[in-house]
Amino acid sequence: MPTLTRAEAADRASVVDVETYSVDLDVTGDGDTFRSRAVIRFRARAGAATFLEFEPVEVGTLTLNGAAVEESAVRDGRLHLTGLAEENELVADARMRYSIDGEGLHRYTDPADGNVYLYQHLFINNGGRVLPCFDQPDLKASWQVSVTAPEEWTVATNGTLVTRDGGRWEFAPTKRISTYLASLIAGRYHVLTDEHDGIPLALYARAALAEHLEAEAPEIFEITKQCLDRFHEMFEIRYPFGHYQQAFAPEFNFGAMEYPGLVVFRDEFIPRSVITESEREHRANVIAHEMAHQWFGDLVTMAWWDDLWLNESFAEYLGTRVASEATRYRGTWTTFAMHRKAWGLRADQRPSTHPVAPAEVTDTDAALLNFDGISYAKGAAVLKQLVAWLGDEAFRSGLNAHFETHAYGNATLADLLGALSKASGRDLSGWAEVWLRRAQVNTLRTEVRRDGGNYAEVAVVQTAPAEFPTLRPHRVGVGLFDQAAGGAVVRRRTVEVELDPSGRTVIEELTGEPAADLLLLNDGDLTYAKIRLDPDSAAAVPLLLPLIDDSLARAVIWAAVLDAVVDGERPVAELVTLVLAALPVETEVVIVEDVLRATRGLVDRYAGPETRPAALELLAQAAERLLLASPAGSSLQLAAARGFIGATTEVSRLRGWLAAENVPQGLTVDADLRWLIQYRLAVLGAAGPGEIDAELGRDRSASGEQWAARCRAALPDPAAKEAAWNAVVADGSLSNRLAELTAGGFWQPEQLGLLAGYAERYFAEMPEMMRVRSGMSAEKAAIAAYPDVAVSAATRRLAAELLARPDLSPILRRVVQDADDDMRRALSARG
Ligand SMILES: [Zn+2]
Repeated sequence: MPTLTRAEAADRASVVDVETYSVDLDVTGDGDTFRSRAVIRFRARAGAATFLEFEPVEVGTLTLNGAAVEESAVRDGRLHLTGLAEENELVADARMRYSIDGEGLHRYTDPADGNVYLYQHLFINNGGRVLPCFDQPDLKASWQVSVTAPEEWTVATNGTLVTRDGGRWEFAPTKRISTYLASLIAGRYHVLTDEHDGIPLALYARAALAEHLEAEAPEIFEITKQCLDRFHEMFEIRYPFGHYQQAFAPEFNFGAMEYPGLVVFRDEFIPRSVITESEREHRANVIAHEMAHQWFGDLVTMAWWDDLWLNESFAEYLGTRVASEATRYRGTWTTFAMHRKAWGLRADQRPSTHPVAPAEVTDTDAALLNFDGISYAKGAAVLKQLVAWLGDEAFRSGLNAHFETHAYGNATLADLLGALSKASGRDLSGWAEVWLRRAQVNTLRTEVRRDGGNYAEVAVVQTAPAEFPTLRPHRVGVGLFDQAAGGAVVRRRTVEVELDPSGRTVIEELTGEPAADLLLLNDGDLTYAKIRLDPDSAAAVPLLLPLIDDSLARAVIWAAVLDAVVDGERPVAELVTLVLAALPVETEVVIVEDVLRATRGLVDRYAGPETRPAALELLAQAAERLLLASPAGSSLQLAAARGFIGATTEVSRLRGWLAAENVPQGLTVDADLRWLIQYRLAVLGAAGPGEIDAELGRDRSASGEQWAARCRAALPDPAAKEAAWNAVVADGSLSNRLAELTAGGFWQPEQLGLLAGYAERYFAEMPEMMRVRSGMSAEKAAIAAYPDVAVSAATRRLAAELLARPDLSPILRRVVQDADDDMRRALSARG
């Protein structure tokens, strides 16, 4: 894919104005190509030249205003046009290639029944893989789509269906949308429909998932309706794109994508096994997130990818908020505090950090890299802070004015700040400068002086890294928690305070107040910062944490503890001890899952080979205690069981569960839990290719195929490792998802001896892998295959040598820089 630069896009937008795309696809036939006929009408500066993204396999007709265009005009992924008229009509009839990397028109064959499924994903610069187009967000146009497909298929697009005649579908023209938002699915999708408040609703999933879609549909429809109602209360412009369809597609790279009128999700969101409440909450959150985009992103779109945050930060903030306000999942802000913010903080402290709203993103490759914890989680946390500062009413009325002014068009950061300033009467330029335009994060620390049992002084000290010396105005809560008679820990009160950006703020209100047993900084999680408690409160955490009944407060404490371990301020052994004490009494599923996952990651990388087995054993014990303590059949029980399976080395016990022996009461050992056990047995060398094949024999599904690939890659066997490595690095016929999962199973801290030599191979062979795979698929494989558990100075030297190469792809450069920075921390924590 040729990268489109910001300068090229600005130049092109000054020359052309697109009116309509009329696309006619023929997806009948078994080959690896499809036919695409497109008519594009656009206005232009007379006599000017321009180009469209276009990557045909073979061109049939190609005319501009009735005159044939030379075939040589198609080169390097672009169609170059000269001698434009004021009104232009481009006609192109070409054969295009299906993709298996999740971009362009992705084609998937379901191993369960042989059915074929297509979905279109043009983002971020893949429009030219389906038709010639002006692939940039500020050249919006109306799309009219027709499709010829096998008669038994279902076809859906952004637009509403006008006629269907046998194998021919014709859809109504859409409102004006950006190219990256043009959507299409086709195949034997199972369909369910409903209606709400005059809006037709539909759900789609593979035929093999039909019974599971039926089972999940009541909840998905309910959440969809609740979120629509809530957005209609918040926004003055009603949902603007007619019907609201949600499709669950195989091998989708993102969690979901916000195409107007036809949102597409990865189909792991339609589970065939038991899942936890937090996984259900996550799905509700994603439904709300994509719906928020219908306004933020689809109705009003960023002009260029610099303002990606206008899409993602708002969708993350509003999705989390609306899910918590409108659905039964009230705890989404706990998940945000615990899980999403850690993602933002990690990205923000790496060498590749960038402002939430960078002044300039040079091209589409750079834009792709900004789909990170900063654009999503930090941006959303900053918006939460903005709302705390402006007040909700001013915030909402500013947003409504913004939509009103820019509907069906494009807007920038300056436009949004203007609308919010006007609504609130506050000048936001200073706020935007420090929160949106400057990278990195502040650390907030409480300092306490006591006078007997009372506070003589409580202060919050704000610091910033030397290279990013910006201090910011923070509004934070400081919570006072006491241990009451009978053991419970209760919040006495929370003081809200605006921190002085000069660095040290004394909370006068607390002077003379009886000291609390635990003083929680950032209670309520209003701000975005690294949090460090005063020494007395930190020392009280192991005793008091399990007894605090507010899950958001527990999440803020856990996040601070984990962050201190990540920074090497506290040893991983201390964390494991805390987990053993506090986890067995934890009641919030997302905290259990996240603590187990994060601690496991730290044990794998921060504990050396001598200390890791003992740490892992303690983690298995913590999970087992929770497993014994949790109610039969509960999400907690399932989360604990998964944690136990991942950490234990008790092979006979795991084999027993597969044979339905001594399974904890209420725990369902279903298809996915069976695979999780097989995966652990494979890592431990207690299951081989025979067991994996037998499991696949029981489960000939898409998920079964993916699990089997991951298990095979995890086997401690040289031939299996060699096969897995070659499949990821060199086999272009392996799909995006299978490549990612194969890479994900490859590196195991238990197998470092066997894996000697593969770190060298990573740095030698990944540049070539980046040519075998493309875009996000390449990025995901490069991340998953990184030797992150081969923690050593030698691995870091190899990374440095690769980074010194001037010809490195920007995507691989970012992956290696980030992973190497993580290893720098791990290595220094090992001491
Ligand atoms: Zn999004």
